[in-house]
Amino acid sequence: MFAGAGLTRLVKVIKALIPLFALLFTFNSTMYAAKIGNSGMFDNTLDNALPQTAVANMVNAHFSQPLPPGKTVKKCVIFGWDGARCDSLLTLKDEPLSAIREVSDAGALFAAYAGGESKIIDTQSTSTAPGWASILTGKWAKDTGVYNNGDLLKSSCRTVLTSLVESGQASSAVFLCSWGGHITASDATYRAEAAYTAQQGLDVRWETYSGDDAVQGALAQEVSSPGAADLIFLIYERPDSAGHDGGFGNGNPAYADAVRACDRDSLAVIRLIQARDTFDSEDWLFIIASDHGGQGTGHGAQTVECRTTFIATNKIRQAGG
Ligand SMILES: [Zn+2]
Repeated sequence: MFAGAGLTRLVKVIKALIPLFALLFTFNSTMYAAKIGNSGMFDNTLDNALPQTAVANMVNAHFSQPLPPGKTVKKCVIFGWDGARCDSLLTLKDEPLSAIREVSDAGALFAAYAGGESKIIDTQSTSTAPGWASILTGKWAKDTGVYNNGDLLKSSCRTVLTSLVESGQASSAVFLCSWGGHITASDATYRAEAAYTAQQGLDVRWETYSGDDAVQGALAQEVSSPGAADLIFLIYERPDSAGHDGGFGNGNPAYADAVRACDRDSLAVIRLIQARDTFDSEDWLFIIASDHGGQGTGHGAQTVECRTTFIATNKIRQAGG
């Protein structure tokens, strides 16, 4: 009798709390949206955030559009900032020299989202492998097959690196990273695609380095070389590492520092590109994007903090190109 009454009471309490949880969830999203809106940094709002798949569309549009007068070749760098939340960019608002600001002043800065079109149906983990796979293919997990870290990219769904080189729209591409889950691990996302490009003799290089500084060194060498790849994709891991260590969000000073380090490194690379002897005859697209956000010391969920990412571009103002 007592146990039955206790259970009934518990059920009542839980039922009463459901709307409260729903309200807190909405409140959280509203607060996040307000923070992005009030920053004055973004060209859209959270309500019309771009899917992260828009990056592949922007890159494809760049390589398929005619060369502007005086230009002889299309070039592109996609800077990947792993685990950089959309609202982490607020730490760059007053930086005198910033890659995000310089790129978006020339083009646009968009709030974007990871995790799938919907938060409920056909979702994918707001994690590294699904995020970059969607960014590089323009497709969600039902097409990429990458729902979680450790899932292999389907051979029916190629990245822009391979598809643009295979079609001849780009002559070469390179993927620079440090996490083994991309290329080298037995369950690496791009392991099969890397084998495919090697087998086909396509000029697509898949390179794994020991950390962000080594990636930056290789990247500096790449963009300084006269024969730099037409399409360059790289990932800095610092924000993700700092988030897992001490929390995602600018409330963790190490996380904010990690985001600023990505910004400084990206700007240094842009400066090296601008110093190329052939720069004036090259048509460069710069994109800076993140794969997922984070909350507490993790990510993967469908919360606003985990889903909300960003895309900066120096060229395309229209959503999705
Ligand atoms: Zn990640």
